[in-house]
This record gives sequence, C-alpha cells and structure tokens, in this order.
Amino acid sequence: MMFRFIKPPYIVKYFFSELVWSINENEKTLYLTFDDGPTPGVTEKVLDVLKEYNAKATFFCLGKNVKEHTGLYHKILNEGHSTGNHTHTHLNGWKNNNHDYLNDINDCTEYLQSGLFRPPYGRIKPSQIHLLKQQYKIVMWSVLSYDFARSVSPEMCWSYVKENTHDGAVIVFHDSVKAKEKVLYALPKFLEHYSNLGYSFDKIEPEFFNQVFPQAQ
Ligand SMILES: [Zn+2]
Repeated sequence: MMFRFIKPPYIVKYFFSELVWSINENEKTLYLTFDDGPTPGVTEKVLDVLKEYNAKATFFCLGKNVKEHTGLYHKILNEGHSTGNHTHTHLNGWKNNNHDYLNDINDCTEYLQSGLFRPPYGRIKPSQIHLLKQQYKIVMWSVLSYDFARSVSPEMCWSYVKENTHDGAVIVFHDSVKAKEKVLYALPKFLEHYSNLGYSFDKIEPEFFNQVFPQAQ
C-alpha cells in the first residue's frame, strides 16, 4: 500500500513554522476546511450537513469557481462561514514562477476577498511565502482526508480523519466533484462523532492570529 502523509511530518512543520498547521491545541474545537469549490451539487450538500450540526467551517475557493457560481459563494458567506483564497486556477507553487503565481492569486481577489490563503497541493516555495505573508495568513492543515484520491474509499477517508484528528486540528476536505461521494460520507460521521465527544466546529478567521493566538517563534 502507498504511504500517505495524512498528518504533515514534524520536520516540515518545523521548517515552515510561520504557516498555520493547527489552531489552539488546548481547546475542544475543530476546524473543518473545504477546498476547490464552490461546486454546484456538492457545496450545497456540505452546507446543509454543516447547518444540521450548527458547525462553521472555512472554504478555500478557486476564483474561477466563485466567478462562475457567485450565488453559491454568497450562500457560503450568508450561512456564516469564512472563505479563503486558493488561487484563481489551482496553480502549483513549485511549478510556477513567483510572478505567475502571484498574478493568479490576484486574479482570485477580483471575486473573493480574504486574509486567508491556502496553496493548492500544499506546494509553495519559501520565496512565495515571503511575498504573501504580509497580506495573508497561510493556512495548511493537521489532517488530510484524501477524499480527492481515487484509490481511497469513503470508509478509508473517514478512518484517516478519525484516527488523526486532535484538539484544535485543521481538517481538509474538498467540495469538488472528485471528492463528492467521500466527503458526503465522511462529513456527517465526523460531525456526529465529534459532537458526541463535546467538540465544537469553528471557522478560521485572519483575526485569530493577531489577537487570540500570537505567532509562535
Ligand atoms: Zn486545492
């Protein structure tokens, strides 16, 4: 079986300590995030499940999808969730020069304004971090659900998340066509399980990092 980095390796977190990997590890709060939307037929269903559990979450949207599905984007905001920039066209930072990468992020800001950014594929160069960090809090994750992977079943996706979630964790799902079956299987299970354990589910906001949690050295 292929080895999967469900949790980021410590060495990566050590060298990229200025990025956000989790929120407050002393609180029974979990931070669900949904990447690559908004996607008609998926995002509405994710929103309905979140509402059922009174959960708030963060949606890292692609500018091109916000442009195409503006109504759905406003539904995310109207239901009290937060959103972040995930580039306009899902660029891989490692494969693009800084000029093209920043241009694509700027294209996204025409449709979505946020102080949060998540790099597609989690791939970003140190020089790109340097250019973005004044304007954005760069949010990575604690737990990757692999809901996008074809070889991962809905049951595996749920067990990856369940085995790796900890207090203050930032969990990545996708509101995309590829992930639909898995996210809609795992999300209700996740919310049911962690609600029963007394957890609440909050959105990530850029202000967190200035006021509540001073940046670690
Ligand atoms: Zn993505």
